[in-house]
Amino acid sequence: MFYTEKRDGFARLGVFEVNGLILKTPAMLEEELLKKIDFGKAPYAVKKIFPEIYEDLKPSGDVEILSGLQAMSPREIAESFSELRGNRPIYAVAYAEPVNVSLLVYLGADLVDNIMAIAKAYNGIYYMGDIELRLERMTEFPCRCEFCRGQKLNELKREEILRIVAGHNTEQLRMEVQKCRILIEEEKLRNYVEAKTKLNPELTALLRFSDLEHGVCFPRFRRSTCYFNSQESLNRFEVKYFLNRIAECYRPKTRALLLLPCTAKKPYLLSQTHRIIRSAVNVNVNEIIISSPLVVPREFELMYPAVNYDTPVTGYWSDDEVAFVAGWLSRLVEKGKFEKIVAHVEGGYRKVVERALKDHDVVFTSEGNVLDSSSLKKLKKELEGYEKYDLFSEMFSHAFRYQFGFELGGFVRGKYPEIELQNKERVARFDLRYGNLDIYSPFAKELLKRGDYCIRIAEFEPTTTIFCAGVESADQKIRPNDVVVFYNSTYYGVGIARMHGKEMVEAKKGVAVEIRRRYRF
Ligand SMILES: [Zn+2]
Repeated sequence: MFYTEKRDGFARLGVFEVNGLILKTPAMLEEELLKKIDFGKAPYAVKKIFPEIYEDLKPSGDVEILSGLQAMSPREIAESFSELRGNRPIYAVAYAEPVNVSLLVYLGADLVDNIMAIAKAYNGIYYMGDIELRLERMTEFPCRCEFCRGQKLNELKREEILRIVAGHNTEQLRMEVQKCRILIEEEKLRNYVEAKTKLNPELTALLRFSDLEHGVCFPRFRRSTCYFNSQESLNRFEVKYFLNRIAECYRPKTRALLLLPCTAKKPYLLSQTHRIIRSAVNVNVNEIIISSPLVVPREFELMYPAVNYDTPVTGYWSDDEVAFVAGWLSRLVEKGKFEKIVAHVEGGYRKVVERALKDHDVVFTSEGNVLDSSSLKKLKKELEGYEKYDLFSEMFSHAFRYQFGFELGGFVRGKYPEIELQNKERVARFDLRYGNLDIYSPFAKELLKRGDYCIRIAEFEPTTTIFCAGVESADQKIRPNDVVVFYNSTYYGVGIARMHGKEMVEAKKGVAVEIRRRYRF
């Protein structure tokens, strides 16, 4: 028996019950547990070469057995995971090591084992985190785990040493698997995996192949900081989704456009730089903030990942970076009917503007430093005479369209960024933790009318959690971490999805929704 408790892309936290034993997954199998699994008689790799033979010899248990990974190329590994993903747990056999296990978990492995850890030990290899030490080059055990502590390498027999190393290697792997569980819980696994894959080109290749596939299991919103540390960061689902979605939902209204550089502080409006600019200049026009790899119309600055990302700032922009950002900037500018474009930028930001808008007349207002009084004076002159622009209302309409596909009117209350939309009662507020909108009864009813992001549950009184067993149907658009509406004939309410819509209908057990608030019809 297996069920999911939390999903993040292909990775998930789950519970696996085998012979009365309950394991929290991702888990490392060892010793007795390994004997309880039906491995079948042929490794998964055989399926590609001799599919008929594989059908006869494949395992028959409740676990998807992914064996023969050693013999596969990165592309084949990515494809095999893709073929096996579903409601049953995936067991990646005899392949996990401290350096690759986080990527295996990211690809969807629920179970791994310590077979490689032991095999390596008996080949004289000692794990030291991600690096491997040859036993013959060691003079002492550098670790204080229960196996290594107090052991004198030069006083032990060969077989005693190998037994110690096998135990030690297993502990190193166990810790790495536990780390993965914490990282999934904290929604930080992707940042970690991107860093890890840099230790080995094969792992980088495997991540790149996996990034070619993004399903409905990937969340649009997360409560962790999105790091843009590597080339692979551009392939993150949330980056692709964000840029495509804002290009669909952006509706600039003013006759002029202001382009500004990004800031380390998020949301940008709270940064000193943007505050100084706005106190010196009346900004009543649409703004687009240039960053890398993001380009963010001001209206979307509270949405994930714009609201919570970190990118290395060196002042140096590579040609690829300039081209990528310029491409998106030009797409966004095309959405407006701008008579005037003012760019208050320097350095690489200016290169982006020049590349993106070479067919437009752009007024550059910064003279060496965006905060110099001469620069600000020039900017002020260019932005004079535009009527009031209601930025906060526009933030709500843009966020509604981005997140739910339609908008609802109202008036804005609160101090930025803790703002909410009211319409007799509270309609929505920005949830800065996830970078999305949290919604209340009036908007929930609107979603019920449309059937969007809705989950029909059985006739019970929902309290804190909705389990899959209680889900009757769910909108297939729903992704993990989406804000959703649940209902039966008596109750409706707002919650946060813990898995995607199809999964919560198909799974017999597991956590589908965490409830935020409940109403009676
Ligand atoms: Zn040790």
